[in-house]
Amino acid sequence: MKQIIVGNWKMNGLSAEADALVAGLATELATLPTRADVVVCPPFTQLARLGPAVKKAGMALGAQDCHQDKAGAHTGDISAPMLVDLGVEYVILGHSERRGEHHELDETVREKAVAAMAAGLTPIVCVGENADQRASGESEETVGWQIQGSLPQGFRGIVAYEPVWAIGSGTAASQQDIADMAAFIREELVRQFGDAGKTIRILYGGSVNERNVTDILPVEHVDGALVGNASLKAETFVPLVRAAR
Ligand code: PGA
Repeated sequence: MKQIIVGNWKMNGLSAEADALVAGLATELATLPTRADVVVCPPFTQLARLGPAVKKAGMALGAQDCHQDKAGAHTGDISAPMLVDLGVEYVILGHSERRGEHHELDETVREKAVAAMAAGLTPIVCVGENADQRASGESEETVGWQIQGSLPQGFRGIVAYEPVWAIGSGTAASQQDIADMAAFIREELVRQFGDAGKTIRILYGGSVNERNVTDILPVEHVDGALVGNASLKAETFVPLVRAAR
């Protein structure tokens, strides 16, 4: 499977810096003859203006969330068809910051994944244990429940394993921990979806950077990375794309 590197800009990027970042990525990526799939997920406010430049550079556009309904009385929300309307192809769902700050439950994430697929988007569903769950040896159990609860029947998308304790910490999970969890997730996906589970891409996310990426991307069952901080500058993001197969 071709690997995929996804940049999650989170709540960063006013117009001038967003334009400059995409221009920088375009210049640097043009020098790579063959490369992994690249997706950038700016905040909603930048999707429309960045779409054409992102596509021209051979990247795909992603969003960071969507509502589970197609339209209606949901003040402040954005639906999956609205994203498609702007040329968005991917959507991150159930990120731990959404689960934490917006109280999103597995069930909500599952409904959002259904809505995203129905609109033609590829959902990137995030799962991962927090520090307490890890300390009490419940990492696999937690991730297992999240996968069962967050992925709908007939799921066609991507699963991102993002240990909450590693996100934004500067320290990624160890290669062994990533290998163990990726193998566990693959098993769960095959158990839940049969052969289709073998083709669902599994990403690692949580403090991926230029130094640790060469340990992470070669790991079996790891099909790419979901990147926060390091996606905010071309010089820290492009090396991750270069390291991917
Ligand atoms: P980080 O964020 O790379 O800054 O740890 C990853 C994420 O939250 O998706």
